[in-house]
Amino acid sequence: MPACPSCNDANTASVFRKNEFPYHRCRRCQSLFVDLKMGDKAVHEHYGEAYYESETLAEKGRRGYPSYRASYASLTDGFRKKLDFVRKYVSGGRLLDAGAAYGFFLKGAEPHFEGEGIDISNFAAIVAQREFNVRVKVGDIERVDAPDGSFDVVVMWDIIEHIIRPIKALTEVARVLKPGGYLFVSTDDASNWLPKLLGKRWWSLGAPMHLCHFSKRGLAIICERAGLGLPAFFSDPREYTLPEIIKHFGVSYESNFLKSIGLTLEKSLVNKFVVRMARPEQFIAVIQKPAT
Ligand SMILES: [Zn+2]
Repeated sequence: MPACPSCNDANTASVFRKNEFPYHRCRRCQSLFVDLKMGDKAVHEHYGEAYYESETLAEKGRRGYPSYRASYASLTDGFRKKLDFVRKYVSGGRLLDAGAAYGFFLKGAEPHFEGEGIDISNFAAIVAQREFNVRVKVGDIERVDAPDGSFDVVVMWDIIEHIIRPIKALTEVARVLKPGGYLFVSTDDASNWLPKLLGKRWWSLGAPMHLCHFSKRGLAIICERAGLGLPAFFSDPREYTLPEIIKHFGVSYESNFLKSIGLTLEKSLVNKFVVRMARPEQFIAVIQKPAT
């Protein structure tokens, strides 16, 4: 059995296979992870245009955002709330957005932080620079091109589940954070009742993009292993339009029927109604690097 990527315990159990990917659950920390037998390059190749803009360039078997560009307004609203949350802890300074995509969070953070982004996707980094005028470098979070203690804040919004070697990535985050600096992580809790109830039908499963679904306990253990502090956990309410929810289900479950309903509703008045909800499995973790 493969060892747990979050707590490194070898006591893991095979739970199911989905789209040929074997999933294991750690008996110690309850994280759920894929036993990945692909190289980095094969994984990273999935983050092209088809991942961010899947409704215009659907390729079978590749799932991502219906249209990241079209979600600008709702994502920006959500990121504004996350920025307010971050600023309760740190009001300014240097900020690294790890997994910045098109740079929407960085754009909103510009009045308060000197920000820069890193993303594995060359496509996303080009869109960030050309369309949104935000500095996003192409690179792996395992190797950030910055001296020790460069940043006051690192944010990882919905990215930690994508990372092939999360312990290496978080150790690098700990290196580039200043002593006393803060890391913010948003992700899903795989030990929550809802993912456990849904099993292999849980919408967040999406290998080879989503690889390790942490539990809160697993995240606490890996943060400590990486030289960071213990996380504090908060709920993560987000805003969605009904067509967005339907389109996301269409992409997650590869249903053209749902995708077309979503696209039709998007052009109707229904698109004006925004639902604010916190999925029970979603959370934000705040982690402070020890000051000494
Ligand atoms: Zn574990």
